[in-house]
Formats: sequence, C-alpha cells, structure tokens
Amino acid sequence: MENNKLKEQDFLVASISQLSISGSASPPVVARFRSDSLLFGSESDSEGAVQFDLSNCQLYKLGSARSLCMSEASDTNEEKSYSRGITIEFRNEEESTAFHCAFEQWKKEVAVQGSYLPNGIVSSSASKFDDKIEASSAKMYFHYYGQLLHQQNMLQDYVRTGSYYAAVLENRIDFTDRVVVDVGAGSGILSLFAAQAGAKHVYAVEASDMADYANKLISGNPLLSERITVIKGKVEDVELPEKADILISEPMGTLLVNERMLESYIIARDRFLVPKGKMFPTIGRIHMAPFSDEYLYIEIANKALFWQQQNYYGVNLTPLHGTAFQGYFSQPVVDAFDPRLLVAPAISHIIDFTSAKEEDLYEFDIPLRFVSSTGTRVHGLACWFDVLFDGSTVQRWLTTAPGAPTTHWYQLRCVLAQPIYVMPGQEITGRLHMVAHKAQSYTLNLTLSAKMWGPGAEQGGILQTSSGKLDLKEPYYRMSQPQAYPMSQDQQPNQLLQTQDLQIQSHDEEASDLLQQSV
Ligand code: SAH
Repeated sequence: MENNKLKEQDFLVASISQLSISGSASPPVVARFRSDSLLFGSESDSEGAVQFDLSNCQLYKLGSARSLCMSEASDTNEEKSYSRGITIEFRNEEESTAFHCAFEQWKKEVAVQGSYLPNGIVSSSASKFDDKIEASSAKMYFHYYGQLLHQQNMLQDYVRTGSYYAAVLENRIDFTDRVVVDVGAGSGILSLFAAQAGAKHVYAVEASDMADYANKLISGNPLLSERITVIKGKVEDVELPEKADILISEPMGTLLVNERMLESYIIARDRFLVPKGKMFPTIGRIHMAPFSDEYLYIEIANKALFWQQQNYYGVNLTPLHGTAFQGYFSQPVVDAFDPRLLVAPAISHIIDFTSAKEEDLYEFDIPLRFVSSTGTRVHGLACWFDVLFDGSTVQRWLTTAPGAPTTHWYQLRCVLAQPIYVMPGQEITGRLHMVAHKAQSYTLNLTLSAKMWGPGAEQGGILQTSSGKLDLKEPYYRMSQPQAYPMSQDQQPNQLLQTQDLQIQSHDEEASDLLQQSV
C-alpha cells in the first residue's frame, strides 16, 4: 500500500520479548514504521525480525515504559488464525509516549487509506474525532493551523491574547504548582502564560505540525521550557502521564461553535481533568438579537442580479438566478457592525464547559423571543459570543460583542432573503436550530416571525414568517469592505428603499419583466 503522507520513522527501544512467534532480535532493537507495517529488528537488519501489519494490530500500555503489541495473524498452510504479540520495553516514559503517538498516527493513516480488518470492520483505531469528522476537512483544518501566519493572526488579536494573559496572571493561584493541559496549544502561547503563572508542569497538546514550532518557541524560553512538554497529537487520542488540575484552551470559532473544537475541549476535560478541576474558559455564551441593515441587505441581494441577464453573450442566465439568490443568503456575514443596528435587546444561550456533554454540542435548538424597540424592517439575526474565565481571584470575560473592541472573530449575521416589518413594542419570535456537520461546522436554520397589521389582516394581525438555511462553514467575510453608517436607520434615502423593494419583487414571477427592464 502506498503511504507517502507520513515520514518513515524509527524508534530505538530497549528490548522486545516475543510471546508466540519465531525469529529473534537482540538489543538494542529498532522499531520501524514503514508503509502499513511496523517492523522490529536489530539496527543492521533493515527488514526486521518481527513484522506487524498496522491495519490489524493493537498496542496496549502495560506500564510507564512497557507495552504490549498484539495482532491477528493467520497461517495459510494450516488454515487457522491466532493472535501473536510481543512486549516492548522502552528506555524511558517519554520515548514510550512518543512511540504510542506515532503508532496511533500511523494506524490512522493506514485506516484512512482504506485498510480493513479481516472481518470487514474498519480498524477500531479510528478515534472519536475521526468518527465524526470527514478526513478531508480535518486535513485542511490542521494544515491551516500548521502555518505560522495563522497562529500569528491569533496572537496579534490583542483583545484575545491580552484577555488570556490577564485571566491567567491575575489568577496565579489557579496555576501555581498545578498541572495544566493546554488543549490545542498552537504556538504554545497559553502554555507559556501558564508556566509564567507558576505551573508545576504544562502538557501542550497540539495536533497540527505547529507542535514542532511550539517546541522550538518553548525551547527558546529556557526559564519556562523545563516545565512544558509539547505532545503532538489530538486530545482525543494522546495519553498523558498525569491528570490536570486545570485546562486552558482557546477552542472558540465563529459563533463560538464553528470548527467543533469545543467538543475536543470537553473530551479533554473528561480524559485529563481531575474531578472539580478548573477550566479556562469556564463557560461560553452565544448572544442573539434581530437587526436592521438596509445596506447589507441590498449588497447581498444585488450580488445575484448578475444572473438576471437574458443576453449574456447571447445566453439567458435567468434560470440560475433563484439558485444564486438563495446561495448568497446561505452565507452568514462576518464583519463588525454598529450596535445601533440592533432592534431589540439580545438573548443568550449558555454552554457550561465544566458540565456540558460532548453530545450536547451536536445540535442546538434555541427558541427566540424579542420585543422590538423600534419600527423598522428586520433583516435577520445578529450573533456574537463571550467566554468567562472563572478564576479564584478574578472573573474575566472575553467578549466579541458589537461596539466592544473588535476581535478576529468579529460578529456574525444571518440575513434573511425576506425581511419582516415590525412596529415599536412588537414581539418577534422564532427559532435558531443549529446542527453540527462532518465538515467541522454547523447548518443553521433560522426562522423569525412577527404579526403584521394593515389592509387584509384579520383581527389580531397575520403572521409574517421568514426562514433561511445557512452554512456556518461558508461565511461571507465582509470586514474588508468599506463600511459607512452615516445615517440612522430612519433616514434611509428613498432611492435605496426603492432598489430594495425592486429586489424583493425579483422573487415574484409576475414582476420579473419589470425587473429585467431595469437591469
Ligand atoms: N492555543 C493557541 C492556538 C489556538 S487555535 C492560542 O491560543 O494561540 C486552536 C488550536 O487547536 C489549533 O492550533 C489547532 O490545530 C488545535 N486543535 C484543534 N483541535 C484539536 C484537537 N482535537 N487536538 C489537538 N489540537 C487541536
């Protein structure tokens, strides 16, 4: 089987003892990962005296530096199958940990490439992460975080990094002489902060190649480095030699939950944290409020106007207009907006990282209820989040709210293709239903409703409802666009409103002639 993704790796181990196979290897023994095999042999014997097929072998820890490697084997001559195994003595615990990490990585690589166990079941080495996340998504994700420029982007978000620094150093008591696990350590910055705050030892777990740079960065800070160990691997897979008193992590994505890393944070809690241990951050909140933004609405609706052309080099583009229009509204908008665009006080949904179950994050169904403080057209739902560091000395919030100093998360807005009209004091109801998908993000289903009065409305009004389905994985990053909100919302120029009304008509088959004339 071709395997060009992982570099071939060799490990020197103290000795191996064979349980049920012939062949021998005298110390020192080299364990070699090659293609889909694990070979044990002497330094000179590159073929290896003992060979395991990675697709059907398992590794068990017997002690801190002692492991058992077992595999299914069959003897074709005698037509019977049996298990075989060897015990491996490592020279020390660190080398044992490194070997286990490499083993898991190799097994996964073999599994990804379609190796099956003889009985047809996919290798059980696939971790919890691999079960729920598409391999292609994970590959791109960790490639992204493996690049220094993206880590730099986060480090240069001073609101973010400064909040972590303050939260850690103002709460020294939570770190001094404590064992810390940094979940998704990236460049290792939070591990270094924890060590500055007096941590006894920090395990910096990072799955991407950034782990190697983290090692380099940490080594260059010798006063701290002896108390930090970088472990390359996923928190779902790696083994740590001791439990943590406190976890530190920055697992927040757009709308808090994008990237699905909160799930890894919770898995890390269940795997590594002592009972009642601390978590930094401790809780997260998603805030939501309806907004009105004529400029944004028109900008999005107008993107699809291109497809209204009936004579584009002699080709009628209109058959795809509806699809294009829906497509643009399925992208959540990421930018920093003026909080004066909000039409009602926000409501929030809390996630307590210390008690939430991993499965709780697979789906959120959030009922919405607002009271409009103004008469306007509501164009959708604005969302942002904050997290709390519940320290023993100081409680500190990191917020991404509109109007607060801007972070690299900005804010997120779900824009509805059909705006709804509200009057001051009017109730706006609805639902935000978020379902996690295998590409490390969520499908968002938004519905907003308000009662409408006027000609034709029955007593009590008729309900206007507007819905949209959006993919959090495909946002429209708008923050690079020039933004001006020179007028308050009740001072919109007439021309603007007319353009927008025209666009709404574009949904209406009967009005399409009128629209085409104007293009
Ligand atoms: N802690 C760093 C980096 C935060 S970005 C900082 O605050 O600057 C999140 C990091 O977590 C990325 O580097 C990503 O590769 C890593 N990561 C995401 N999921 C992970 C997982 N399941 N196991 C280990 N690392 C993970």
